[in-house]
Amino acid sequence: MSKPKINLDKKYGLFIGGEFVQGESGEMLDVYCPADGELLSSITQASEKDVDNAVEAAWEGFKEYKKTNRYERAKILNKIADIIDENAEHLAMVETLDNGKPIRETRNIDIPLASEHFRYFAGAILAEEGTANAIDENTLSIVLREPLGVVGQIIPWNFPFLMAAWKLSPALAAGDAVVIKPSSTTSLSLLELMKLIKDVVPKGVINVITGSGSKSGEYLQHHKGLSKLAFTGSTEVGYKIASAAADGLIPATLELGGKSANIFFDDCDMDLAIDGLAMGILFNQGQVCCAGSRVFVHENIYDEFIERAIKKFENIKVGLPWEEDTQVGAQVNKAQIEKVLGYVEIAKKEGATIAVGGERATKNGTEKGYFTMPTLITNASNDMKVAREEIFGPVAVVIKFKDEDEVIKMANDSEYGLAGAVWTKDINRAIRVARGIETGRMWVNTYNQLPAGAPFGGYKKSGIGRETHKMMLDAYSQVKNIFINISEKPSGLY
Ligand code: NAD
Repeated sequence: MSKPKINLDKKYGLFIGGEFVQGESGEMLDVYCPADGELLSSITQASEKDVDNAVEAAWEGFKEYKKTNRYERAKILNKIADIIDENAEHLAMVETLDNGKPIRETRNIDIPLASEHFRYFAGAILAEEGTANAIDENTLSIVLREPLGVVGQIIPWNFPFLMAAWKLSPALAAGDAVVIKPSSTTSLSLLELMKLIKDVVPKGVINVITGSGSKSGEYLQHHKGLSKLAFTGSTEVGYKIASAAADGLIPATLELGGKSANIFFDDCDMDLAIDGLAMGILFNQGQVCCAGSRVFVHENIYDEFIERAIKKFENIKVGLPWEEDTQVGAQVNKAQIEKVLGYVEIAKKEGATIAVGGERATKNGTEKGYFTMPTLITNASNDMKVAREEIFGPVAVVIKFKDEDEVIKMANDSEYGLAGAVWTKDINRAIRVARGIETGRMWVNTYNQLPAGAPFGGYKKSGIGRETHKMMLDAYSQVKNIFINISEKPSGLY
């Protein structure tokens, strides 16, 4: 299949105050397709002045937006969801070309899940009820949710569109205005969305600044005009965001990295297990914060598991992401594939075995892009570098275990705690293990499901706060308590 032609602007400005504007410095960054190196477009490198303008425009927008009622806000969120659905095919292809993800994923997962999040938060805000209590005979307490103001949001390249939806939907539902910065590697789908929803969102309520993390990201995180920072990305940058939030004495929610344990007991269904291994580590080329990158397999099924896993991985189609039957697309850029293959070399030096994969793909038209073969590292132990650090590629490290206590101990021996899964037919064991593992999300007999309505977020160095759930409204608002005396008598104290 030849590469689809899509309509993209040659150059994108910044979206500030309800319109696209040129950056003050005129500096642009080229954007390439990771599957074949084609120049797709160029985006604006936002300067400090541009970020100032965006924050100012957001406060301007907030002045009116904070007066909206929840019905009006829900209507805006639902309209955004409708527009995403109506333009799903275009947005899916933009994401596929910009990021390298297979079209079957962007079409069936990234884009529909994004519109689902806008609908979910529209519903969540409508279902909200304020509280009023009689404290005693003479006093009433009214509890109101009020927006925070202007939120600075910074998102990564692995799910550019979905992460934008995770950030924008609760903020808009709560009544905040935002300045959002996508990754400079993958800004196109959000910029395209802004073209589509320009007339639906009140001016200044969403402002998009683009550019590198080290410039535009730094200006945004240190901006003194923000009421909150919300970040998804690496733990390394997460530390910087937390410290900028501390400096400004504002709250921060952080969704960071992981090294999640995908645990297979000897009573699991082997067909489902092999499928679950692939879902855990091949989805989005393994560039998933919650990827099942540490695979623990019970010793009784280890040999059969490895044999079947190798066969599965050998038969995965690594190919051009716009082809319908491609299962694994391109890594996002050169730096990322070099990092992934660098970890394969580290594994070899550490004495592990590369049971399958471990190299660039060379078939199906992949020669010009950044494609990695699905990889299994065996003969590994939990203390190896490849079992401790986030590889962020289609590379699973497999470790054998004897019993429940041992596997819980090994799974918890990690600085991260984002997700994980347990595969077994024994419900008691599934729940015991799920409870024993220090992570924010444990799947049972499934992996990488990320619907709206189930809270997602990390323990330990994987983050602070939860997303994808109505509890996020608390993180985007503050509480006003109005305390009323209805008695006509003086207090009698003075
Ligand atoms: P990254 O930390 O390099 O970049 C994330 C964002 O931060 C980008 O927009 C980048 O431009 C910006 N940035 C970089 N340096 C900055 C700085 N000094 N100041 C301000 N902003 C800066 O992460 P990435 O490589 O884009 O994404 C991969 C990482 O994201 C992985 O670690 C992954 O686990 C994590 N992630 C976590 C979740 C989650 O929900 N927990 C979801 C997706 C991705």
